[in-house]
Amino acid sequence: MPSVRSVKAKGLIIGGGFPVSIQTMWKEPLRADALEAAAARVRGLAELGCDVLRFAVPALGDAEVLGRLAAMVEMPLVADIHFDWRIALACLDHPIAKIRINPGNIGERWKVEEVTKKARDKGVPIRIGVNGGSLPQDLRERLERGEIDRAGALVAAAEREVAAFEELGFSDVVVSMKASSVAETLEVNRRFARAHDYPLHLGVTEAGPLVPGIVKNTAALVPLLEEGIGDTIRVSISDTMETEVAAGREILAAAGKGRAGITLVSCPRCARAGFDTHAFTARWAARLYALKTEATIAVMGCVVNGPGEARHADLGITGAGDKVVIFRKGKIARTILREEADTVFEEELRAFE
Ligand code: SF4
Repeated sequence: MPSVRSVKAKGLIIGGGFPVSIQTMWKEPLRADALEAAAARVRGLAELGCDVLRFAVPALGDAEVLGRLAAMVEMPLVADIHFDWRIALACLDHPIAKIRINPGNIGERWKVEEVTKKARDKGVPIRIGVNGGSLPQDLRERLERGEIDRAGALVAAAEREVAAFEELGFSDVVVSMKASSVAETLEVNRRFARAHDYPLHLGVTEAGPLVPGIVKNTAALVPLLEEGIGDTIRVSISDTMETEVAAGREILAAAGKGRAGITLVSCPRCARAGFDTHAFTARWAARLYALKTEATIAVMGCVVNGPGEARHADLGITGAGDKVVIFRKGKIARTILREEADTVFEEELRAFE
């Protein structure tokens, strides 16, 4: 069942049938003396297709640093706060687009109430994030006694928090229930979506390094998105933010929720290759993801499949003996030396900007 509610995080609408947004999370401490560099990286992430960026705010003093960065960039920035409600209040003094808290570790209800009051005054939504690793004590015990399953415990934890927020008159909420297994991620989000119309943030938590991380997130998120469940996603993997964003784009595309941009086709390479497709795609991936034009680009190693794939693409590059052939809209456009490949490809790409 699709979410019907929506929240507004700066200029971005999450839920309400709006396009599914892609998030990632800043992976290093944010340094006050390196905000220009941080702002440049945030802009680079926006070029790649990142819509929202979350920052852990571990100490009170970090709120101001994040606030200064938020004022420097267009991207909605989210403050992620655990344990100390005063950090959430401090963040709300700055142009932060959204707050993420785990109410279970914020403590007494009055502290959560303080946060919701100030968030309401500032028009800032809150993501309630419950996590399989930090369930409330009573639900953990019921789980251990076998009275509920893990998905049931996660849903119950989220429902409890949503109800508490509703009692406080605060419904500007996005919900996430993160489990580290595919089956639980599927089950928990399906159950919650059947009963509630809050926007859902999807992701598999602690999914692992690149390969298992992308596989688990794809296996869980694609079916949910195809069922209309999920309004914003984060592919959390032990890799770079840029990789998380690229993986998010590919997952949305696989679920039929993609946005305009490049479809990249490349061959796995084998002994026949006259052109190193691995190195070439690694060099060009970020640049290609930043293009907004709807187009297919093929990078192929040799003449066995290369010309065939490249002919179906809007732009193709394929190895051919000791040369490289450029295809444009299915026709051979140029035959060049291997050393010229990057320069010529750059010239060809300008047509897609
Ligand atoms: S296109 Fe050529 S180099 Fe690439 S995998 Fe196929 S046969 Fe091998």
